[in-house]
Amino acid sequence: MATLRIISDDDPTLRKSSREVGEITPRIIQLLDDMIETLHEYDGCGLAAPQVGVLRRVAVVEVEPGTIYELINPVIVEKEGVQEDIEGCLSLPGRWGITQRPAKVTVRAKNRHGESYEITGTGLLARALCHEIDHLDGVLFIDKATRMLTEEELEALREGAEEDEES
Ligand code: ZN
Repeated sequence: MATLRIISDDDPTLRKSSREVGEITPRIIQLLDDMIETLHEYDGCGLAAPQVGVLRRVAVVEVEPGTIYELINPVIVEKEGVQEDIEGCLSLPGRWGITQRPAKVTVRAKNRHGESYEITGTGLLARALCHEIDHLDGVLFIDKATRMLTEEELEALREGAEEDEES
């Protein structure tokens, strides 16, 4: 396994659409393994292949530590309601915005064994699934943000996080 370099939004690759995966080759398995390692290294809750410069419809999501969803050719098959929350992206470090996402989504995808499965998620899981699938179509959260957080708000968030760590 290897940690991959995450590209930032000055790289036009992030704006391209990714190709579907046909056969799940050893290269795709390797990609999944490397993406999981990279996700852990960066302490994120999701990563899409375009973020590591690979234009294939592959993503990984891990909202609950230890529960990793490997998503090959993921599609949203059902969505319900609306949630609004703060969102960020490993490709846009230090930038956070408010976005609206479905409150609940069902995603169909294949795992590394080529088996089709469905995940239904609410809250952060729903948000992460939508965010990663957007990456596969070259869409970033800043396209959907109703507004970006100000420097003061970011500062308050950072202070809040530090207090949480101390308590
Ligand atoms: Zn992202």
